[in-house]
Amino acid sequence: MEQKDQSQIRHKFWESISLREMNQNEWEALCDRCGQCCLHKLEDEETGEVYTTRVVCRLFDNHKCCCRNYAQRAQLVPACKPLSCEATDVFFYLPETCAYRILSEGRLLAWWHPLISGNQSTVHEAGISIKDKAISENLVNMDHLEDFVDESF
Ligand code: SF4
Ligand code: SF4
Repeated sequence: MEQKDQSQIRHKFWESISLREMNQNEWEALCDRCGQCCLHKLEDEETGEVYTTRVVCRLFDNHKCCCRNYAQRAQLVPACKPLSCEATDVFFYLPETCAYRILSEGRLLAWWHPLISGNQSTVHEAGISIKDKAISENLVNMDHLEDFVDESF
């Protein structure tokens, strides 16, 4: 019998299998590359509420809307924790538009997700991504991150 290549991206995998059942290629394809998870967040210790700022990680390329060194991100930025289906408790920290959070909550991917539209640019056209909108942490005083809380993100 022919062995199935486990690295293959299965047709409409996001509709038929769980996050845990995805192989590495499917897991990576699920990311819409919006960049929102690269923004610094502040958490109110009393209420647990999370506030998003428009300040982004120093490795983020604002114009290309991607990490400058995705392969070595964990070594270069220790605070950057690669997502995994083993740690779904951190998903609440992700934006409501994030595909991992959407699927973990039983919702459907929107029209602008590249897997649905077949086009990476729709995540920018729909205003979901942070392309050209954020400010690098290299350019701000990180002791005053609260000044950069931005509800539009
Ligand atoms: S918020 Fe989610 S979909 Fe957007 S870049 Fe981060 S992991 Fe990918
Ligand atoms: S290291 Fe890369 S992936 Fe991680 S937060 Fe920074 S820009 Fe984003």
